[in-house]
Amino acid sequence: MLAHMKRERAAKIISTLGPSSTSLEVIASLFEAGADVFRLNFSHGKHAEHKERLDIIRKIETEFDRPIGIIADLQGPKIRVSNFVDGKIELENGAKFTLDSDQDTDGDQTRVSISNPEIYPSLEPGVELLLDDGKLKLVVEQNNGDSVDTNVLIGGTLSNHKGINIPGAILPMSALTEKDRNDLQFALDIGVDWIALSFVQRPEDVAEARGLIRGRAGVLAKMEKPLAIEHLKQIVELADAIMVARGDLGVEAPPEDVPGLQKKIIRRARSEGKPVIVATQMLESMINSPTPTRAEASDVATAVFDGADAVMLSAETAAGEYPLEAVSIMDRIIRSAEQDDHYKLSNIRERRQTRGTDADAITAAAKQVAQTLDAAAIVTFTTTGSTTLRAARERPTVPILGLTPNVGTARRLVLTWGVHPVETSHFTEFNDVVNCATDVAAKEKFATPGQRLIITAGVPFGTPGTTNVLRIVWVE
Ligand code: PGA
Ligand code: MN
Repeated sequence: MLAHMKRERAAKIISTLGPSSTSLEVIASLFEAGADVFRLNFSHGKHAEHKERLDIIRKIETEFDRPIGIIADLQGPKIRVSNFVDGKIELENGAKFTLDSDQDTDGDQTRVSISNPEIYPSLEPGVELLLDDGKLKLVVEQNNGDSVDTNVLIGGTLSNHKGINIPGAILPMSALTEKDRNDLQFALDIGVDWIALSFVQRPEDVAEARGLIRGRAGVLAKMEKPLAIEHLKQIVELADAIMVARGDLGVEAPPEDVPGLQKKIIRRARSEGKPVIVATQMLESMINSPTPTRAEASDVATAVFDGADAVMLSAETAAGEYPLEAVSIMDRIIRSAEQDDHYKLSNIRERRQTRGTDADAITAAAKQVAQTLDAAAIVTFTTTGSTTLRAARERPTVPILGLTPNVGTARRLVLTWGVHPVETSHFTEFNDVVNCATDVAAKEKFATPGQRLIITAGVPFGTPGTTNVLRIVWVE
């Protein structure tokens, strides 16, 4: 076992892969530098490219003998401009610009087509269109049925395939487009661990996706629509994990509301014990610079202080010039934040309301016992991962080992705060479980001889949902 594959932090790092991160060498270096989970962004790239990256990740997994989580992020009902003849155009304030339905002709200075012309009838004069994450703003002047003429309110550079947000209109689009359904099937076939749903609006959107995914991957709901915030409680209950998708959220809602919404979404997810990710523009300037701004360092630390399970890099690792530097500095910012005295104290003092279940009683006790005895780690045995999630929800002061015979569970658990998942064999005897716990803890450098471990397990074995044992053992 490679000792350095034990992360010295509880919060996790997600790295989005793209043109800057295609080779085995680069992806392996991102993993070694701290990327715990990789995101395949189905808004860009071909199926073959995603499959290639997935194969590389699985190879790295074997090489390092560590589970790695893979997220397939579906584009969702995101509207985009098509391509331009020259790749991009410059729009001046006050210029006229037409969005049309001519998808066979690349765009120019006067016009471009978009991915979903069916929305045109919903765009009345006066409706504002935000392009490229809100950097450019157009206002509809005239609706021609199959095109709209607009006036440029805020100009700038507009390049191929940039997104369009229209917060002021209700659009006739399903939560899962044809492309999404196709991508979803492909992603499940190649064996991703998570499916991320973009532009979720209603709990029904999550329920529909759950029905299609049927347990073959975790369901990750991206919060990027104001409407979804109104249904936050139900969406968190239905999803397996949540993302604060600040890029689109800050376009659909006023950007000044994003920090408060981030905290609100994190609180809700943590109270349910569902992993929550803070995403987008975390180290944005590192797309072109080897060092972050102080504000960016502070933003990553804030997500850690808020108690997020994971922080995510997007273009920084997918399309930037310094992917490795971005992961490395993110790793260092998280580790530094987690050393903060106030942060540690707040995790110790925090009393989370528990459900009246055996698993919650045991995992809450595990946190307390580990702290009292200054134990080396909490070791949870789990089939579905649910007990480990409940243990992580308690935010114990020691690492959590998530031991599971199910490789899919191990890969999914990587996303969770404080959890170091390990795939084990199936056990039938409690003694074997204890031996496995001490072996793994020693081998993975979580405990040395003379230290104590707190083990949680369910007896009899093999019945998911039974966690009824808490055992203190010494590592010999
Ligand atoms: P995206 O989602 O990167 O797929 O757009 C994240 C966000 O909107 O913040
Ligand atoms: Mn988004």
